[in-house]
Amino acid sequence: MAILLFAEHDNTALSDQTARTLTAAAKIGAEIDILVAGNAAKGVAEAAARLAGVRKVLLAESEALTHRLAEPTADLLVSLAGNYDTIIAPATTTGKNVLPRVAALLDVMQISEIIEVVAPDTFKRPIYAGNAVQTVQTTDTTKVITVRTAGFAPAASQDAGAAIEEVAQAADSGLSRFVENRFSVSERPELSSARIVISGGRALGSEEKFREIILPLADKLGAAVGASRAAVDAGYAPNDWQVGQTGKIVAPDLYIACGISGAIQHVAGMKDAKVIVAINKDAEAPIFQLADYGLVGDIFELLPELERQL
Ligand code: FAD
Repeated sequence: MAILLFAEHDNTALSDQTARTLTAAAKIGAEIDILVAGNAAKGVAEAAARLAGVRKVLLAESEALTHRLAEPTADLLVSLAGNYDTIIAPATTTGKNVLPRVAALLDVMQISEIIEVVAPDTFKRPIYAGNAVQTVQTTDTTKVITVRTAGFAPAASQDAGAAIEEVAQAADSGLSRFVENRFSVSERPELSSARIVISGGRALGSEEKFREIILPLADKLGAAVGASRAAVDAGYAPNDWQVGQTGKIVAPDLYIACGISGAIQHVAGMKDAKVIVAINKDAEAPIFQLADYGLVGDIFELLPELERQL
């Protein structure tokens, strides 16, 4: 039996989360189809078809799929599920919104945020905010899986493309309706896929100071900006900058934590960074146990100095 990979995209570009999920899927089985559900998303389907190892791409286009709301998208996936023994998606906001509904409709248990494929029916996934790794074996006839993509390299793209087959959207149940998208417009790289992330914590003390101290440095480094939950809750940084268990999971080449103590819930979101730099005035702060490079001192002196040096 085969694997159906639910693609992540914005109707224009295919996210590299799809290529990473394909690498995970290839460890489960060889017959992998990608489902591109969207509206005017032919270009996305063509990009998906060029990913190495794809058998074919299923393209479902309709008004109801424009924003991939959970209800119509899950109906579509369930209508296709009979041909597949695995349905897999990256653990993005969309994947985490759609796949639980698919699992519920199929009456199977979702296996969430896998970080390793041990065997086609056995997976590793973090629990307790990443403090333990659980090995799960499933006997479900259809496996519904989300993938924490940071641990999987993106599958390569090639010139020759697999076939693209159009599939009909299942009837729209009309259970949900798209109202609006509110994006924070930024020139900086996207937090989840940035190569460098600089994050600020409660120590920043105010939104003004966060912007004054962290943003110029981020711009010089070409970095995405992250924040601890304490900084977000205090209103120093917007919600979508939060890194951690209840925020974004990041795995950049370089993560710079500024005035962040290193609570386990924060560490759960950034411990996979290749190089971690911590700047904190408390030499005993837990973040230093994790950091590759630690600087003990006041961020209000050190960060402007670092920016000048750059
Ligand atoms: P603090 O812990 O207050 O640390 C501030 C640090 O700044 C201290 O180490 C201090 O020494 C240092 N400092 C102060 N002034 C300076 C200065 N001038 N120069 C240098 N250093 C200075 N947190 C997250 O981040 N992400 C999550 O997703 C998340 N999810 C959670 C989920 C649950 C269910 C729970 C219970 C908590 C969660 N938290 C999360 C909160 C987490 O437990 C911590 O409270 C939070 O991470 C602390 O943020 P902080 O490090 O900025 O603040």
